[in-house]
Amino acid sequence: MGAPEAFTATAEIGHFIAGRPVASGSGRRQAVYNPATGAVARQVALASAGEVNAAVAAAKAAFPAWSEQPPLKRARVLNRFLQLLNEQRDTLAAMITAEHGKVFTDAQGEVTRGIEIVEFACGAPQLLKTDFTDQVSTGIDNWVLRQPLGVVAGITPFNFPVMVPMWMFPMALATGNTFVLKPSERDPSPSLFIADLLKQAGLPDGVFNVVQGDKLAVDTLLEHPDVKAVSFVGSTPIAQYIYETGARHGKRVQALGGAKNHMVVMPDADLEQSVDALIGAAYGSAGERCMAISVAVLVGDVADQVVPKLAERAKTLKISNGMELDAEMGPIVTAEAKARIEGYIDVGVKEGATLVVDGRGCRVPGHENGFFTGGTLFDHATPSMRIVKEEIFGPVLVCVRVPDFKSAVDLVNSHEFGNGVACFTRDGNVAREFSRRVQVGMVGINVPIPVPMAWHGFGGWKKSLFGDLHAYGEEGVRFYTKQKSIMQRWPESTPKGAEFTMPTSK
Ligand code: NAD
Repeated sequence: MGAPEAFTATAEIGHFIAGRPVASGSGRRQAVYNPATGAVARQVALASAGEVNAAVAAAKAAFPAWSEQPPLKRARVLNRFLQLLNEQRDTLAAMITAEHGKVFTDAQGEVTRGIEIVEFACGAPQLLKTDFTDQVSTGIDNWVLRQPLGVVAGITPFNFPVMVPMWMFPMALATGNTFVLKPSERDPSPSLFIADLLKQAGLPDGVFNVVQGDKLAVDTLLEHPDVKAVSFVGSTPIAQYIYETGARHGKRVQALGGAKNHMVVMPDADLEQSVDALIGAAYGSAGERCMAISVAVLVGDVADQVVPKLAERAKTLKISNGMELDAEMGPIVTAEAKARIEGYIDVGVKEGATLVVDGRGCRVPGHENGFFTGGTLFDHATPSMRIVKEEIFGPVLVCVRVPDFKSAVDLVNSHEFGNGVACFTRDGNVAREFSRRVQVGMVGINVPIPVPMAWHGFGGWKKSLFGDLHAYGEEGVRFYTKQKSIMQRWPESTPKGAEFTMPTSK
């Protein structure tokens, strides 16, 4: 692959309402950084309540016509969008790297995982097919419709600025809803590019809208009577707030929160494979993935073999600007996030864990002002330490040593988060027992980052998900539609008189 073209636009990032880009009217804005250089690259508008209301009004106006379109016609628009996305995959990936910092090939992977949801949503006619029962009673049939909700909103995190919105809007649009996206203010550029591609694909104006913004925009959406459902992905305190506030305003809410994912390495595991998996899953995307592995649970005497290998690899990670194609790890998203992560490394040292590899003060030649933190490795951590309990969301891998399988499962199950987990073993029974007993929503057996495919649905347990339905897949269809049961009789013309008892099958 030749060197990818960097994303260097400098114009202020505004909103997209009723099929048109809309410049900021609020006068409020925020800097967007290139994390690899530390420089302010552009500004993003922060919407006023009036701008959010305009986006909701546009989506409301577009709903009747869009929801009346046959699912096949909606799917055809998504099919054209899919084609454009495939053509523009690298442009989107370069935008991600420019504002998030992750390496370009990882950003390409993110776009691909988003594209897969669009491919799934293109099956809308099949997905919306429902159950029908002939003759539930003499002369009566019963069937179910799944109808769209109306205007729905998506509020998304910085760490997947393309994929996470695509967990939401392709499913929402395919099922007949109209959409307002409030992307992360840290990497907002892809949202406008996506809005433009949808328009080029023939999506009617107002069906997909973008408002840039912060808490003010979020709160306006949460309180707006015309927003019928909210999908959220982000940190746990905000997820809980979104869930509670949305519910108080009568909305359907799915709010996916933070994570602390464990990988259990059993003594019989293939150790080379386990080390490769831990390195990729802990340090890929600088650990800024909700499915990153941040705790290695090393069973029996496996730690004495695994930790030295991890240390050797963590020390030699290729850390640089994500646009350099041999980079393995890019910068952290912002200076504040870097300071928070390095603060956690200080905490781990004070708590008494052994700091085997220290990523603090990482400097990348030519990028001295970039927000880089090196791969960090702790050993001999214990479950009561903050570096084990709290989400760090950076390239910090913490090793905990446990004597046996039961202690490993207990350690995972006692954690407040339950997003992803992995177990590396060669023993089928251990693998089966682990999958059944572990209190986590997404499980990998010899797979470190088990992000489910488009048709399986994504979601954690415990404090990693507030709500009952997972993102995308058939759960996504259920989230974005409400069920209506229809019972139909076409009586003969002879009247039979009123019935006062509960109808039962006759
Ligand atoms: P965040 O919670 O800071 O922000 C997420 C969204 O909420 C953004 O759009 C932001 O503008 C908005 N927001 C922030 N503060 C708010 C407030 N006080 N009131 C209302 N809205 C607010 O999360 P982030 O830092 O962008 O993303 C990283 C977090 O997301 C991590 O905790 C990570 O684990 C989590 N995450 C979870 C999943 C998952 O599937 N469970 C996926 C990706 C990321």
